[in-house]
Amino acid sequence: MGKPNSTLKNRYEDTWSNVHDDCMLCEMNKRTKWYLETKRFVVAEKLNGGPFVVLKEHRDTLTPSEWDQMEHIVGLLFDEFEIDIRMNLVPDHWHGHILSSDGSSSITSLKEE
Ligand SMILES: [Zn+2]
Repeated sequence: MGKPNSTLKNRYEDTWSNVHDDCMLCEMNKRTKWYLETKRFVVAEKLNGGPFVVLKEHRDTLTPSEWDQMEHIVGLLFDEFEIDIRMNLVPDHWHGHILSSDGSSSITSLKEE
């Protein structure tokens, strides 16, 4: 049931799983621009710029079918892209940086054009 004074679990009870109070991805809570949210994933703008995709569950890997879903969702927003899994800032919560197919981080959402 979490800590008594934690609001995090209430906020995310609907669709986020296994949230951790001290995780910056679990706590991202629309501090940045969100492009798209599905049941399993959020595609958002990082605080320091550039889009990324975050699993709405606090664990560090995707199943093959989740990977397919993730690529489909990102493909709705971006034309040619690569997913860069570095996870050096938050190693235990899966997220991928969305880069253009030439590896650069300047990628523009199809919805902004
Ligand atoms: Zn997390």
